[in-house]
Amino acid sequence: MPTFGQMEIRASTLIDLLRRAAPEASAESWDRVGWQCGDPELPVQAVVIALDVRPETIECAIREEAGLLIAHHPLLFEPVTRIDPHSFPGRELTALIENRITLYVAHTNVDRSPTLSLNAAIGRRLPLKSHGPMASKWQDSGLKLVAFVPLNAVGQVRAALAEAGAGQIGEYTICSFAIPGTGTFLGSESSSPTVGEKGKLETVEEIRLEMICPKRALNRILRALWDSHPYEEVAYDLYPLSGYEDPRQFLWAGELAEETTLSGFAALVRECLGDGLAPVKFAGDPGRRVKRVAWCSGGGKSLVKHLLPSDTDVYLTGDTGHHDALACLSKGIALVDLDHYYTERLFLETIRDYLLRNLPDGSVRWILDPSGPVYHHC
Ligand SMILES: [Zn+2]
Repeated sequence: MPTFGQMEIRASTLIDLLRRAAPEASAESWDRVGWQCGDPELPVQAVVIALDVRPETIECAIREEAGLLIAHHPLLFEPVTRIDPHSFPGRELTALIENRITLYVAHTNVDRSPTLSLNAAIGRRLPLKSHGPMASKWQDSGLKLVAFVPLNAVGQVRAALAEAGAGQIGEYTICSFAIPGTGTFLGSESSSPTVGEKGKLETVEEIRLEMICPKRALNRILRALWDSHPYEEVAYDLYPLSGYEDPRQFLWAGELAEETTLSGFAALVRECLGDGLAPVKFAGDPGRRVKRVAWCSGGGKSLVKHLLPSDTDVYLTGDTGHHDALACLSKGIALVDLDHYYTERLFLETIRDYLLRNLPDGSVRWILDPSGPVYHHC
């Protein structure tokens, strides 16, 4: 049995490491990330990392006796009302559960993660002088939680709220602000106050504890507040924050070390990201000079409207069509389209390398899904 120190490695240990680098609360609100099926407390000897949960991916996981499958695209996206073992996704779910394989999905939370971002991985592969996200700062349109806590319980309440997902700002966790003040209360005959006596007006030194609270984690955070707070009744307020989500956070940009032609850049993309084999198509004058590149892993056609010709010569993404190319060209920006699979397959090694760095050598076997691209070209 594999060991982690003196302990077996469980799927939950690996999942916790992923959550640390790419908190689930940072995923887009439409997305479905996180634990999707199986028992994460079972020990794991082998892990399969894949873009999609395809039948051949599951066959590979069964063959390799994997206890955990980490996928980029969710298997469960729409609400499930029945699990039919003869059709998608019940067939896949049944196979995973019968073979004791836990499924964990990391999707747009990975795209936002400074450690695991596939856009960062693409930037490292291309011959660029410098690269980075077009908009690095963003503020979730979440809530501000204000809780009133007796002085001696502030540490435990703050820790419990942070553990549940409150107080995350960019690369910082456990962000809070505390203001001392005086609270009053008068307990009824049926109350049982932690401090003072019922039927008597009490005055207590308390702290007004403030933390950012993502809406998606609200139930978990409020449960943590009630569990960690010593009072019978907890006083708290929730304030909506107007927030700001810059769509350009999913766009990355960089400057080529050497200016080249559009057709030369398309060839570079095929070489650096597609093993020299991947299908690449491009729109624009093949001889046009390009230097400033913007890109988005996966299918980034919805972001064309946020590109400006003043800072982008060519846009690289997948899943574009005729009209997306025309929209790009009408702005004076060339388009290079690389197959969706090739823009995201760096997920496999990015996740493996991150987990490897955080686990003892040889503690689990890593299998990168060999299923290959979805589309073949003739
Ligand atoms: Zn994708």
